[in-house]
Amino acid sequence: MKARLPAFLGLILLGTLLSSVLILFEAGRNLPPTAAPLFELLGKPLKTADAALTRILPIDEVDEAELGNAIALRYEVYRDESDPDQKYVESLVRHLSRDSHRGFEYRVFILPNPAPNASAAPGGVLFVTSGLLKMVETESELVSVLGHEIGHVELGHCIDLVRFQLLADKVEARPLGEIADLAVGIMLRPSFSKTQEADADAYGFRMLLKENYNPFGMANAFQKLAERNPDDMESGNPLDEYYRSHPSSTLRARRYRTEATQASIKRYYIGRRNLEERVSRYDAEYPEEWLGTSEED
Ligand SMILES: [Zn+2]
Repeated sequence: MKARLPAFLGLILLGTLLSSVLILFEAGRNLPPTAAPLFELLGKPLKTADAALTRILPIDEVDEAELGNAIALRYEVYRDESDPDQKYVESLVRHLSRDSHRGFEYRVFILPNPAPNASAAPGGVLFVTSGLLKMVETESELVSVLGHEIGHVELGHCIDLVRFQLLADKVEARPLGEIADLAVGIMLRPSFSKTQEADADAYGFRMLLKENYNPFGMANAFQKLAERNPDDMESGNPLDEYYRSHPSSTLRARRYRTEATQASIKRYYIGRRNLEERVSRYDAEYPEEWLGTSEED
């Protein structure tokens, strides 16, 4: 008798896993097969008993904040509160999004993936890979990427894309939890327009200036991405696919180097030590990380 319980639980688990893979394959059917592990990783259904997730909603009536909460619920398993990376990026996102005019509660999840990447989902849910945290060398660079993703949310790009794609796919009404999975699948596909990307870049750059971070942080981050993801390289990695869809990182690096030069900021914060120690500048500001002279000096 005792052996039956684990077998039974195993069956339930397998069933749940299969159904989630099916749902996600539907969302990611245009993706190469190499994307499958990523989708499985992201799609582990959790808390499916949560009443909010089983409520069936017509796509055009989905509230963005509510959808964000549903997505966050699904990926809560990736949030390890004791993880220094998690605490660090969370502190940054909390402060950078404090003026969110959309009024979303921003959440961020660190995905164990070596490819440097970040993405945003409706309602202020951000995903950052461990590879991105390895790639950047200063907090300024990281903030430029976070600013870009927050920009996609604040400018309404994420919810517009999800609604558009679901309606195009003739998905009329689904349980909220399923819409959340589909939304994440859509967000991982290369799909923003060049204009939207340019607007998100501008948003991220303005954030660097407003927060007195190194204005060259954005150009430096793009430069590193360009070195790691040559635009014409076929790697079969879905995260590389994502970056290829963005305007060339080399061009963006060049553009934002010029913007930073023209901004002629006299004093700015680098945050190399903050990144190294995983302590956000909002929690500890190190005087040696300031460069240049202020008006008062
Ligand atoms: Zn983008």
